[in-house]
Amino acid sequence: MHFIDMLVENHPIRKTKQQKQSFRDWFIARAEEMGYAAQADEKGYSRNVVVGDPDAAKVIFTAHYDTPPVMPIPNFLTPRNIAFYLVYQLGIVLLMILIAGGAAALVGWLTKVPELGGLAAFVACYALLGMLMFGPANKNCVNDNTSGVAAVMEIMSRLTPDQRAKAAFILFDNEEKGLLGSSSYASKHKQIKNHTLLINLDCVGDGEHVFFFTGKKTRALPAYALLTETLGQQEGRQLHMENMESSVYPSDQANFKHGIAVCACNHKKVLGYYVDKIHTKKDTVCEQANMDFLGEGLSRFVEKLEA
Ligand SMILES: [Zn+2]
Repeated sequence: MHFIDMLVENHPIRKTKQQKQSFRDWFIARAEEMGYAAQADEKGYSRNVVVGDPDAAKVIFTAHYDTPPVMPIPNFLTPRNIAFYLVYQLGIVLLMILIAGGAAALVGWLTKVPELGGLAAFVACYALLGMLMFGPANKNCVNDNTSGVAAVMEIMSRLTPDQRAKAAFILFDNEEKGLLGSSSYASKHKQIKNHTLLINLDCVGDGEHVFFFTGKKTRALPAYALLTETLGQQEGRQLHMENMESSVYPSDQANFKHGIAVCACNHKKVLGYYVDKIHTKKDTVCEQANMDFLGEGLSRFVEKLEA
C-alpha cells in the first residue's frame, strides 16, 4: 500500500488537537519502523514532528501536516503568474468587503439605526476572518497537504541507513494559520534558518508539472546544481526549476534563507500553471507518479550529497 493511501485511509483530516495527536503518534511509529529516530514537540501551540538530526543534516525535507478549514472560495494559486495571483487575492478581499458592506446596509435598513449597520459590518468582517482560520475542517485534504507528508515518507523509505545522516525531515504544524509551526521552529534554530538547505513540499500531488522555486542565494550553492542535475535525470513528470523572484508560492520555506518551495501544477493555455481545488472538498487528487518522481529524485539527491 502506498503512503498516500495509508494516510488518506487513517488520518485524512489533521485539524483538531486529537486528530493531530493521533496522526503524530502514527507517523512516529511508522518512522521508527523504518529505523529513524523521530519525536514531536510536546509543548506549545505548534507541535512540529522532527525525524533525524536537523542540526547535522545537509538537507532538510519539510511538509506541513495540519489541514485547512473548508472555504467557500478555492485557494486558487498561479505560482508563475504573479499578476493573476494578486488579482485573485484582491478579489477575495473585495468580496469580503462586499459581504460586510451588505450586512451593514441590511442591518441599518432593517433597524433604521446606522450605528448597528456599522457594528454588523464589523462582526461580519471578524466572522469571515475567523472562518478563514478556525472554520469547519475541510473533508478532503489529499493534495493540501497529505501529498507533502506522503512525499516525505517516500523519501524516508528510499534512503538506505548509511545515507540517512545527511538528511532530516520536519513536519510543520499550523501552516494554514500563517506558517506558525515553521516560524517558531526557525526562531529557535538560527543556524538552520540561516544556513541549511531546506526543501518544502506543499501540494505536490495534483498535476504532472513539478515545480521547484528557488531564491538567488540558494541557486548559488553547489548543492543546487546537484539537485537540478539529479532531478533532470528523473522521468515520468515534467520538471520546472524556477526562480523564486519571478514566482509566488506562500508556504513554510519562506521562513528559511535557503528554503526551496516544491509544488505540482496543472496547465491551461491562457492561464498557465495553476494549483486549484485546495481548501475545498474537491481536494481529492494525489498521483502516485508524483510521489515516485519526488521520492526517487530527492533520495538520489541525498545519496549524491557529500557527507
Ligand atoms: Zn498547504
